[in-house]
Amino acid sequence: MGFRWFLLAVLLSSQAFADDQITLQLKWTHQFQFAGYYAASEKGFYKQAGLDVILRPNGYTGQFISPVDEVLSGRAQYGISNSGLILDFLRGKPIVALASTLQHSAVSWLVLEKSGIKNLHDLVDKRLMTIFPLEQSLELLEPFRAEGIAPSKLNLVQTVFDLDPLIHGEVDAYDAYVTNEPFLLEKMGIPYRLIDPRTYGIDFYGDVLFTSQGELENHPERVAAFRKASMAGWRYAMQHPDEIITLIKNKYDTDKSREHLEFEAKAMMQLMQPEIIEVGHMNPGRWLRIAEVLTEHKMLINEEKISPFIYKEINNKPNISRYLYITGVSSLLTIILATFASWIYRTNQRLQKEIDAREQAETLLRHLSETDPLTGIANRRAFETQLTNEFKHFKRYIRSFSLIMIDLDLFKHINDSYGHPVGDEVLVTFVKQLQQHIRKTDFLARIGGEEFVIIMPETEIDEAIITADKLKVLVSKNLMILKEFSLELTITASFGVSSVSQKDENGYDLLNRADSALYQAKNKGRNRVEYYEIAY
Ligand code: GH3
Ligand code: MG
Ligand code: MG
Repeated sequence: MGFRWFLLAVLLSSQAFADDQITLQLKWTHQFQFAGYYAASEKGFYKQAGLDVILRPNGYTGQFISPVDEVLSGRAQYGISNSGLILDFLRGKPIVALASTLQHSAVSWLVLEKSGIKNLHDLVDKRLMTIFPLEQSLELLEPFRAEGIAPSKLNLVQTVFDLDPLIHGEVDAYDAYVTNEPFLLEKMGIPYRLIDPRTYGIDFYGDVLFTSQGELENHPERVAAFRKASMAGWRYAMQHPDEIITLIKNKYDTDKSREHLEFEAKAMMQLMQPEIIEVGHMNPGRWLRIAEVLTEHKMLINEEKISPFIYKEINNKPNISRYLYITGVSSLLTIILATFASWIYRTNQRLQKEIDAREQAETLLRHLSETDPLTGIANRRAFETQLTNEFKHFKRYIRSFSLIMIDLDLFKHINDSYGHPVGDEVLVTFVKQLQQHIRKTDFLARIGGEEFVIIMPETEIDEAIITADKLKVLVSKNLMILKEFSLELTITASFGVSSVSQKDENGYDLLNRADSALYQAKNKGRNRVEYYEIAY
């Protein structure tokens, strides 16, 4: 570290921003989605930072202008967009992501419950309403691609930003924001279902605050100040949502009711997790994955390549050339400098610790979202991801795999006779038993109350049947000792086995076969193994 840094720090700290007027181009009309910026504005955070910020809404005509274009043309200095930003960056647009306010994207397919559509595969021949150009909709199309369905095969229609066509059955699915449209359907008493890209392993950042590289080069202090004040606004807004809702109703031209804004705030709380993850946090590894997905894995991308895209809060090198003329310094300064350097060092260490803690929190969050809290094994969501991956592996390398689906027999009786807590303990003990008798490479998940699945890689159906038979005997012969309840009991389970076939279009095909086999096992008297074999 040179003494220039010290001088710079002194100069910067005394420099007030000359009340520059800057514009933030919002992604959409005024609503809770931008609560943090209203809070920063109304609570004086921008003013304290010497900033005069105009919040410019979007989409009032149903058409929206591109915040990226606005920022690159200089009509705005800051904008809010989504994860698609990184694609713009990779195509050479000089933009920098400053903060991700939504840790998870709010975008999801919305269908009516009565349509019977339950998953992505049910959507293939249906009419899907989405935003054009399709680049705006990549995160909703990517799950199809991940499932082996080419987006070109889909029947996509330009959205009219209105739910009527969905309600009247003119389209079957709608490109929705979980913070918005579900509320409208709930108000009308129309049951709906969300088909979330996250279920298919696509987990994008939601709203992302960004600026241009020019702004960052020419006004690094302003960028830092704007980011800081905005994030302070977000923390305030998420702690005082009611106050900000009143503010939006009174001061901003919103077409949403108070109730609607409240719904939005709650949904956003889920997507932001402000108690666990610091507002605005971005993980370079996650951006890398998003970039890979958006470029369909066709581009060689690494962290270095996307590094200029991700704003660095610390070690952010401002443009110092204009301060270089101040080079005459006394030895006294050198002493002060040493103290300062050590202070910087300690601050950096502390910041590094904070970053580590944040990353740990993110890992924990991901773990929680994939784990069944009662038994500690994978939950349905994690199972679906694994099944999809295993199926892809099969398609690529022709490696067979099998499924064993398990449902405990007459489990209701256990609950009825001994109570729900005993039922829970039985489930936990059952899982422990299974875990001791399956291979390390097998993947055990709890996909329903007392329903489990084992994915067995590299396993043909005969071998899977043998394993299922062994497990059946193991379960029924073992006396379950529940010390905590001073109880000893035996249970049985039914098993359905299936293996992947060349004719399968996706993992759900063999899951359905395992399910039919299980149904057979129940029908034939329980405590047995059935399999569903089709020609390979
Ligand atoms: P069958 O042999 O036909 O499977 O009979 P069953 O009684 O097991 O019937 P079914 O599978 O339809 O019902 C499962 C029951 O499992 C319903 C519910 O009371 C109970 N159950 C589901 N999840 C839990 C749970 O987390 N804990 C406890 N204790 N019970 C659960
Ligand atoms: Mg069941
Ligand atoms: Mg059962």
